[in-house]
Amino acid sequence: MRKLVIIPMLFTVFITKAQDSTQDSIFIKRIATNILSSNDAYDNLWHLTKKIGNRLAGSPTMVKAENWGLDVFKRYQPDNAYLQACMVPHWVRGGKDVSTVSFTEKGKTINYTLNVLALGNSQGSGPKGVKAPVLTVKSFDDLEAKKDQVKGRIVFFDIPFGDTLINPFESYRVYAGYRGAAPSRSAKYGAVGVLLRSMSHSTDNFPHTGATRYNDSFPKIPAVAVGLKDVAKMSKWAAEGKQLMALIRTNGKMLPDTIGHNVIAELKGTEFPDEYITVGGHLDSWDVGEGAHDDGAGVVQTIEILRAFKALGYQPKRTIRFVLFANEENGLKGGTKYAEEAQAKKEKHIFALESDAGGFTPRTIGISTNDTGWAKVESWKKLFAQYNISSWDRSGGGADIGPLNRLLKTPLAGYEPDSQRYFDFHHTDNDRFEMVNIRELKLGAINMAALIYLVDKYGLE
Ligand SMILES: [Zn+2]
Repeated sequence: MRKLVIIPMLFTVFITKAQDSTQDSIFIKRIATNILSSNDAYDNLWHLTKKIGNRLAGSPTMVKAENWGLDVFKRYQPDNAYLQACMVPHWVRGGKDVSTVSFTEKGKTINYTLNVLALGNSQGSGPKGVKAPVLTVKSFDDLEAKKDQVKGRIVFFDIPFGDTLINPFESYRVYAGYRGAAPSRSAKYGAVGVLLRSMSHSTDNFPHTGATRYNDSFPKIPAVAVGLKDVAKMSKWAAEGKQLMALIRTNGKMLPDTIGHNVIAELKGTEFPDEYITVGGHLDSWDVGEGAHDDGAGVVQTIEILRAFKALGYQPKRTIRFVLFANEENGLKGGTKYAEEAQAKKEKHIFALESDAGGFTPRTIGISTNDTGWAKVESWKKLFAQYNISSWDRSGGGADIGPLNRLLKTPLAGYEPDSQRYFDFHHTDNDRFEMVNIRELKLGAINMAALIYLVDKYGLE
């Protein structure tokens, strides 16, 4: 008797699931068709990169970007759109960064100008610059081994970028620590400046900036990232036994903190309005190039999901927040403020997704969730295959949504497109609109929208 009851029940569940899956597949196809038929994401990226340009937190262009973001959100008629204020650091480059090296060859002095960018948050050298003999190190261990030779030198960190690692983000995780810590670890032993190999595999000579962090216990010495062709030259000269002299002249300055804003739009949930789903990217960029892949792509993909949902008349069960974060690059104050306010208001945040790995072709979605969440993800995977998501990681997230997990234990996901070319452009003058492919950009938005739709419909954990 029991069996007779259970079998029809199981059968019903099976049929319902199959119907759901078909409906989901149909709706995701509608999302895809809508996004592939619209050029709004690409046009929005053009405006952000070409009409506004790069936009470091605290800069006048970031204010323009915030106003633009709010206007664009409103154009797509969310239930709500607003700015969320937060204090952000205000670093300025202050002028052109200059570095030269010289050495003596056959009685003649050879001077060579390096292609450099001061590291973000670094303090300038003063108008005269610093000039000193170069000490080359290959790692922090090497620096420690040579600590008695550091005093009065400019330390050249000729470190690799993980050529043999397949995922360049793994290289970045391993080696970006040098950018953060090299200046203070060198100043500890009396260095007067730092030259750092750019964090990249690129074959061009664009230097790659990015944030450094001074330890207040040591002098704040100037520090620059060097283009890779110039690094190759310096390595060669050093290997030939030439004693290099270097000059570094930079003008960076940290001004008092100022007001920045997260730009937020909402679609109100019809069944569970008090449950929040966040999707976002960061609106700020470094002060070079146009911030196209980092993270103009994530910004316009986020906006695109709102546009497509509205165009399809989609009414979410849960409240969806579309967030353009204020300050990922040199302080994370936007993401921190967003999570702190959510905590203060006792909001229930069930999921957050960030796109901050470039506008490249889809490959992977990484999700940090428990076993219940992962079981759902497993059942959804087939829905993504035709949109180029070929792998799923059981860990993922993004810098701006990290604080949501730390404060509220929110499950996180990161959209992880193909990353082989990301570090060719990351934090350089070369991160421009032209480097983003319209199809790849749109496919990213489709997969992100599909994931938001599924989590909205079924919940995650
Ligand atoms: Zn970024």
